[in-house]
Amino acid sequence: MDRERVLRKLPKVNDLLEEESIKVLEHQCGRQTVLKAVRDGIEEVRRLIERSFEEGLEIKADEEALKKEALDRAVELVARYSSYSLKKVINATGVVLHTNLGRAPLPEEAIKNIADVARGYSNLEYDLEEGKRGERYDHVRTLLCEITGAEDAMVVNNNAAAVLLALSALASGREVVISRGQLVEIGGSFRVPDVMAQSGARLVEVGTTNKTRLSDYERAINENTALLLKVHTSNFKFVGFWSEVKIEELKALGLKYGIPVMEDLGSGVLVDLEKFGLPPEPTVQSSVKAGTDVVTFSGDKLLGGPQAGIILGKKEYIEKIKSHPLARALRIDKLTLSALEAVLKIYRNEDYEKIPVLKMLLRSSEELERTAEKLAEELRKVVNGRGQVEVLDDLSAVGGGSLPGVELPTKVVALRIHALGPDDLAKKLRSARIPVIGRIKKERFLLDVRTLAEEELKIIPEMVGSVL
Ligand SMILES: *Cc1c(COP(=O)(O)O)cnc(C)c1O
Repeated sequence: MDRERVLRKLPKVNDLLEEESIKVLEHQCGRQTVLKAVRDGIEEVRRLIERSFEEGLEIKADEEALKKEALDRAVELVARYSSYSLKKVINATGVVLHTNLGRAPLPEEAIKNIADVARGYSNLEYDLEEGKRGERYDHVRTLLCEITGAEDAMVVNNNAAAVLLALSALASGREVVISRGQLVEIGGSFRVPDVMAQSGARLVEVGTTNKTRLSDYERAINENTALLLKVHTSNFKFVGFWSEVKIEELKALGLKYGIPVMEDLGSGVLVDLEKFGLPPEPTVQSSVKAGTDVVTFSGDKLLGGPQAGIILGKKEYIEKIKSHPLARALRIDKLTLSALEAVLKIYRNEDYEKIPVLKMLLRSSEELERTAEKLAEELRKVVNGRGQVEVLDDLSAVGGGSLPGVELPTKVVALRIHALGPDDLAKKLRSARIPVIGRIKKERFLLDVRTLAEEELKIIPEMVGSVL
């Protein structure tokens, strides 16, 4: 049969629109979405026919078969066109704070509060007692001060914004002294020297890459010095011979010369992780206690809250930062604020097990094992002889530029499908209705159970079944 004759057998758009399954979809997803899917479905089959002729392949060319093929494709396309671009995925990488996968999952309370605030009006900037204009920061200021011991606090869009704003408000046109060992790059676009330049402050680097002493800072101080800055090295770690100046010592130096001290903690930890058997991290409380004038940190790293930048410390500096014109441009939105308030309430009540990030970091080996066995059992039913499912020991990373080098012993479910290489399997699972993201190691596709939620143990086998 020649190409033209086969192409003439393609179904018409209107034929497909008459189909019962398409009519149902039209009702659910709207006419325009369905119309586009039907046109594109037919077009895909047309291209398939063209390609088959070019490659000299056999093709089933009766009208019914072509119609069914176009219909199947249209139905699939409707699902794709009506799903959101930004959507839920399953993080089976074991990386708890995966920046590309949205960092911290929120506690239930925070999700509920977002919905309540989003649904209607709120007292975002309204003082209910006085019946007049209020300040959006009021909703978290008291909690932040109570938890950390700070005099005052405010919040912005993220920690990068917090650092930029604080430097702009406190040091523009003047000098900021920082150790060479702390001129870090975080996540590819936050580079301390660049942020400093953007703020209009002049960077004065002191010490060497691996060692900086208090005397190095002291020698750099002059009448133009606006700030002494300490930055947490976050995503990298010194080994061997190195030393840095403690925040307490830096504060004492600042006091001697009347210069404020700022610390960018990066990952804001509000609870001593050592208590839970994790490596120690400087807490926000310890920095405040040392007398640091301005402390900045992220809302969605180890804190386990929404994306936000928290700035707290001495009232005189927080006031100055708040009234800088950039504060308005970088301000936090009401949904983030509602989530942050809920998360901070959890911290005040010391209900740490309600914070998903902390819970995932602290999962016991028994729980990890139990979860992995459960997932493996469900997967075996689905794979059913077409491959291999094993539970193995492995290590998970914390991620998000937090606790670098720390590897937590974990359990993974290793999946091997005979007919599919690990890369192809990973690709197929990324395109599932609910994408499943894992990692590949030694020709195996691994699902790390540390970062999985209970309900996802049922979804994963379903998604694996759908792609096989
Ligand atoms: C992560 C980090 C930032 C940036 O914080 P975001 O909340 O991602 O904007 C800034 N400084 C340090 C030290 C960090 O670790």
